[in-house]
Amino acid sequence: MKILVAVKRVLDYNVKARVKSDGSGVDLANQKLSMNPFDEIACEEAVRLREAGVASEVIVVSCGPTACQETLRSAMAIGADRAVLVETDAALEPLAVAKLMQYVATKEGVQFAIFGKQAIDDDAGQTGQMFGALMGWAQASFASKVQISGDTATITREIDGGLETLAMKLPAVITADLRLNEPRFITLPNIMKAKKKPLEVIKVAELGIDIAPRTVTLHVSESAARKAGIKVADTAELVKRLKEEAKVI
Ligand code: AMP
Repeated sequence: MKILVAVKRVLDYNVKARVKSDGSGVDLANQKLSMNPFDEIACEEAVRLREAGVASEVIVVSCGPTACQETLRSAMAIGADRAVLVETDAALEPLAVAKLMQYVATKEGVQFAIFGKQAIDDDAGQTGQMFGALMGWAQASFASKVQISGDTATITREIDGGLETLAMKLPAVITADLRLNEPRFITLPNIMKAKKKPLEVIKVAELGIDIAPRTVTLHVSESAARKAGIKVADTAELVKRLKEEAKVI
């Protein structure tokens, strides 16, 4: 069984996002970009399934510019077997990515796909679900445990205040939640090995797939800066201020 893992290159989670001065989006110029953290978890899970003998091959796929090759190499350093870059410089919405992933999944004949539960740049949380719908596959979002036996996947999902366990027939797609696993540390020898693994590049322009955006970003703004706190002299003043100034939100 082949597993497809969707890997997005995003602004590194340690970098504070800066909005462009014209409010048209986040400024990515000269910023550190790296693998979306939930996709690292997705990749780790797929590699564990291959190591356990459940999967035969892990294919990592990224849609975006040439620089995504670096992110795909990181995914192969975690242990993925090969990579596919679906290359375009165009801005991609979740539906467009889902369609491109559908193309690769169909071409490769994959039986199981793992997406991150959300990309930390657009926070859309849509792509895995749209992919499932396009493929007509069973899907389980926010997975925190995965077991595959024969043609059945048993998935535990994180839901409000608890856990839900589902069984579904393959082929299927899941989206990885934070507690699914802790990705391994990438070692130098594995970085070196990853450089030699196959990386195929497919140009979006040659596929004839409609990736035109369906939405227009009107404005992006940063959150308002938090006001500084104040010190009060004693409890009496605190109570007085709470009565007079505190607002019910
Ligand atoms: P989103 O729906 O944008 O929050 O993204 C959810 C997940 O879809 C991500 O964690 C990735 O696994 C996948 N994904 C989204 N965009 C891309 C992309 N351009 N290339 C590869 N995977 C992507």
